[in-house]
Amino acid sequence: MSMNSEKLNLILFGPPAAGKGTQAKQLVADHDLVQLSTGDMLRAAVKSGSDLGERVKMIMERGDLVSDEIVIALIEDQIERNPDAAGFIFDGFPRTVPQAEALDATLTSRGMAIDSVIRLKVDDAALMERIRVRFAEQGRKDDNPESFAIRLGNYNKQTAPLLPYYVAQGKLVEVDGMQSIESVSTQVRTVLETIKATKVPRKKGFFARLFGG
Ligand code: AMP
Repeated sequence: MSMNSEKLNLILFGPPAAGKGTQAKQLVADHDLVQLSTGDMLRAAVKSGSDLGERVKMIMERGDLVSDEIVIALIEDQIERNPDAAGFIFDGFPRTVPQAEALDATLTSRGMAIDSVIRLKVDDAALMERIRVRFAEQGRKDDNPESFAIRLGNYNKQTAPLLPYYVAQGKLVEVDGMQSIESVSTQVRTVLETIKATKVPRKKGFFARLFGG
């Protein structure tokens, strides 16, 4: 077994405002995982005024998806830059089938794989209410009602079709995202512990080889 297969790679999956970022940050704090959020990367690019930022600014503000090519390149670059990470939490990526296929290909080429896709289930009415509050508090342009409706529509049209992709791989786990942040964290942690328990520890393989066990 190669060393890389011991890395823990998770996707946090769900509609915008489901709590993916909040849960990802919790996992980073509790485990030695690296959060890869394409939304955060793109917002940083917009803020810095880079060429990339200029290209994606309007697309993001109106609530549309930026091209697969752009986000796949961002993710591949970050995987490349973090060879020693204990694993990755993908947050807001993949959002389309081509993105999911590209992620599988890039992980496979590095001896890695996605272990689990954790779906945060939150109903539309609750998402709208969360966004109404977040827009009032933070004023993020793409949280305005028109942009948010487009984001939700894009999730349903382009991202939700990824669910069968991961069901077919036997990787989808569902968590009730309607609960409090703490309760969702507890559910996510339980999933994580289960995955960890099913991964073969490196030492066992090593001793088994030594003693023929
Ligand atoms: P998020 O913070 O994940 O909701 O992302 C904010 C915005 O960034 C999205 O509404 C899209 O415009 C863009 N974005 C983030 N991740 C992706 C992705 N994987 N594919 C396409 N666009 C993305």
